Amino acid sequence: MTGLMQPRPLTIPHILERAELLYSHKLVVSSGSEQLTYADVTDHARRLATVLERLQVPRGARVATFASNNRRHLELYLAVPATKRVLHTINIRLSAEHIEFIVNHAEDDVVFVDRALLPRIWPSVERMPRVRHWVVLPDGSDVAIPSDPRICDYDELISSADAFTGSFEQAFTLADEHLASGLCYTSGTTGPPKGVLYSHRSTVLHCLGTLAAGFIGLSENDVVMPIVPMFHANAWGLPYGAMMAGASLVLPGPSAEPGHLLRLMETERVSIAAAVPTVWTSLTPELSAHDLSAVRFLLGGGSAVPDSLSEAYRTAVGVPITHSWGMTEVSPVGAIGGTRSQHRRLSAKEQIAVCAAQGQPLPLVSMRLLDIETGEKLPRNGHSVGELQVAGPWVADGYFRVEADDSFTEDGWLRTGDLATIDADGYLRLVDRMKDLIKSGGEWISSVELETAIASHPDVVEVAVIARPDPRWTERPVAYVALCEGSTTSAEDLLRHISPLVAKWWLPDEFVFMTTLPKTGTGKLSKTALRASTRTA
Ligand code: ADP
Repeated sequence: MTGLMQPRPLTIPHILERAELLYSHKLVVSSGSEQLTYADVTDHARRLATVLERLQVPRGARVATFASNNRRHLELYLAVPATKRVLHTINIRLSAEHIEFIVNHAEDDVVFVDRALLPRIWPSVERMPRVRHWVVLPDGSDVAIPSDPRICDYDELISSADAFTGSFEQAFTLADEHLASGLCYTSGTTGPPKGVLYSHRSTVLHCLGTLAAGFIGLSENDVVMPIVPMFHANAWGLPYGAMMAGASLVLPGPSAEPGHLLRLMETERVSIAAAVPTVWTSLTPELSAHDLSAVRFLLGGGSAVPDSLSEAYRTAVGVPITHSWGMTEVSPVGAIGGTRSQHRRLSAKEQIAVCAAQGQPLPLVSMRLLDIETGEKLPRNGHSVGELQVAGPWVADGYFRVEADDSFTEDGWLRTGDLATIDADGYLRLVDRMKDLIKSGGEWISSVELETAIASHPDVVEVAVIARPDPRWTERPVAYVALCEGSTTSAEDLLRHISPLVAKWWLPDEFVFMTTLPKTGTGKLSKTALRASTRTA
């Protein structure tokens, strides 16, 4: 028997209408200098809806952004999917070759680009011939704008456009919640980038999942600052989540300079902020110079958050960094760390160990572990290590314009490529990425566990461990380390520090000291770059 409830679709226009109707007075601070309300932002989104018509961007077309975290980008987040177009957020840090590949692969019809970023993409323009319009987003920069009929100015278009009137939900009658709403390419470290095509339904459900108390738990009281870029898996859903919850948003603009980010957190009384661990690390030297008393939740994801880093925040700010595990393919949030009621009786040290886990899956996300050799399902006992596979309504089912891909199992689960354990309480703990494990003498060494041990030395700012081919052992670990300024810590000091923490045969064969480690386009430490440098050395 079918239930008798309304089959109303889950769509992004609802988020827009809700922000308009309930939270129009709430603030959006952009790039540190502009302050708008949700009323302003949604008015601009309504105008943008008519601009897209005027530019004759077809329904279903891909509308690309090449932009930092700013309010114009937020307006695009709303108007593009609300008008049945697909928002393609391009990672501005990709190589020109990858940018050209994904713009052409996505067949972007129009690209909205921050003025300051024009010089990074415009030289490729003739290799992206399908793009009909280039819309420049003013950002205070004065870089020269080429004289070209394809270029127009966002603010001019918006101010001369009529606001689209009427109810978004009714007018756009998005009867089909499965329509594509967003497109995000994975960074392509092991092949060409692959597009993950989000739907309205997946985006709204992901938003609700992160909103749940006990997970990110955004509320109307919050001031949310996504430091994680809006091109990195939709800034982990925070812009939509904040609007859905009615929280104020602080969008920090292009600068990742620690002083700028910390000043914003202080002056705007930010309560929730999210970033990859390398960014959290970069802020630590200046934490004590700022009043961060409004902070109640800090989220770290994209790679493992060493407990030493999380604890440094607990000491300086009073709030640790909470782990979030995710992937572009998972919209991206799949699990969130932290303790549960049963952990209250544990000692402080034991609680820190619980918080070092990647945490519990969000509601509606299912996880399982499979033996990497036999493919057998493994028990949830906290020590059996297998490949993590996930399924759920905001997990990808395939890649955009890729026929078949072995990332998906026959029974519809996503192979994450991560090795993990799951304990009896459902807590996920990542052991390593399969491609980063080090095979030494027939046994596996977890690069992540070694990194965590090395990072617990107070002078270590960044560390990445990779495998070096070895004639006798197959592979041996080599640690790349950046120390804090003025440190005289030696390889021997580090070996002494980690000896009690890891097995003897795990000790790295070599420590290579660098002033800073290479990063990926999403700001994570780049093991690919380190591997390339060892090959060419
Ligand atoms: P990329 O392949 O460019 O890194 P993603 O941002 O989608 O693209 O990265 C997903 C991967 O990042 C995961 O498969 C996992 O290996 C790693 N990851 C994400 N969050 C965490 C976390 N909290 N702890 C450890 N690793 C993480």
